Amino acid sequence: MSATSIIERFQNVMFPAAAPYHGDAPLVVDHAKDQYIWDVDGTRYLDFFGGVLTVSVGHCNEEVTQRTLEQLQKVQHTSTIYINPIMVEVAEKVVALTPPGLQKCYFTNSGTEANETAIMAARMYTGNPIIITLRHAYSGRTMTAMSLTAHGNWRLGGVVDPYVRHVRNPYTYRAPVDLTPEQVVDLCVQDLEETLATTTNGRIAAFMAEPIQGVGGFIVPPEDYFKRVMPIVKEAGGVFIADEVQTGWGRTGGKWFGIEQFGVEPDIMTFAKGMANGSPIGCTITTAEIAEAVQGATFATFGGNPVTMATALATIEYIEAHNLVENAAVQGAKLREKLEEFQAEFPFIGEVRGMGLMQALEIVEPGSKTPDKHRATALMDSAKSHGLLLGKGGLYGNVIRVAPHLNVADADMEAAFELIGAALVDVS
Ligand code: PMP
Repeated sequence: MSATSIIERFQNVMFPAAAPYHGDAPLVVDHAKDQYIWDVDGTRYLDFFGGVLTVSVGHCNEEVTQRTLEQLQKVQHTSTIYINPIMVEVAEKVVALTPPGLQKCYFTNSGTEANETAIMAARMYTGNPIIITLRHAYSGRTMTAMSLTAHGNWRLGGVVDPYVRHVRNPYTYRAPVDLTPEQVVDLCVQDLEETLATTTNGRIAAFMAEPIQGVGGFIVPPEDYFKRVMPIVKEAGGVFIADEVQTGWGRTGGKWFGIEQFGVEPDIMTFAKGMANGSPIGCTITTAEIAEAVQGATFATFGGNPVTMATALATIEYIEAHNLVENAAVQGAKLREKLEEFQAEFPFIGEVRGMGLMQALEIVEPGSKTPDKHRATALMDSAKSHGLLLGKGGLYGNVIRVAPHLNVADADMEAAFELIGAALVDVS
């Protein structure tokens, strides 16, 4: 079956809005192993995006796959009307690895649902409806999650939650005028205070943020941003929700969770993606007190199912056993250094930013900060034609995202550097 005929059939039966990457020549996947994906025509690609930071320890990782298969043969699904021991084990693991105050977990099937659970818990705990979140956030695709999302093109149809307020995000590269990181934080804090004073009665349910904005283009806040925001959130009666869907499980290097890089403790954390190396998962963890406020009955048919839990446990234990949180820091530093070398060479790279194994290139018109979406897309397509898969993002579609698996080795890095170099020359 050729790629062309599958693409044609895809277009016949799928929503047009479900458009894949690489417009004219989307990748039609046949199989994948470790750092590689093969398309149906037999071409091999080095994967430096992991299905949007999802395949955290390599495609069909030997150990993870084996343990998943064993579980599949033992018991696949009984729903949460019964207790399965492996769900308890994963919950214990999450409790052990997250900050000490966080003690109670709830499992679902996606990041969207993990965020919905967090919002529900925050509202029930505080009795307030208002959620403050950041511009350029991506939170998922249900009605509430789309209401939280602050990228116009991801807010389809009816964005209906009237209680969401978006405040300025700490995007130092795109401050309205040239400001120092400290001044950007001041501006964000001022905007938060003004939003509270003008659009709320001063009481909120939560402040929700990705420690590093993912879809937004790996926007890293200045170090003290969250420390400055926290007291204001608390003063307004709100809890702090850290959306760790992209930044969790070692991705940022040196710490298990992105928010730990900023020295504050959230009241709620949400996880998905890399937690189960490519299996559908969502997890929300919070304090005993907040969990206690979620009164009534809540039920997700597949949330915490034994197979996904086996994959999650195997993934987390693989990250631990192979020191991948550290590897993400070491390899991430190499990646960063090389990308900065490229920036010195290619004037259309406006900024290199990120943390650990989530690094980005913001593509602009040389000599200005004008976003250059077309060159960014061309760069990503050119990398693919050389056999390397990268991601894109950013409100203006001009940010290239580089996020290899956490177990990326020197040889993969060297290979990727050559291919990125070739793609950069192509689009020069
Ligand atoms: N939060 C963040 C930070 C995300 O990046 C995403 C997915 N890109 C989501 C939530 C939603 O996750 P899912 O697609 O699994 O529903």
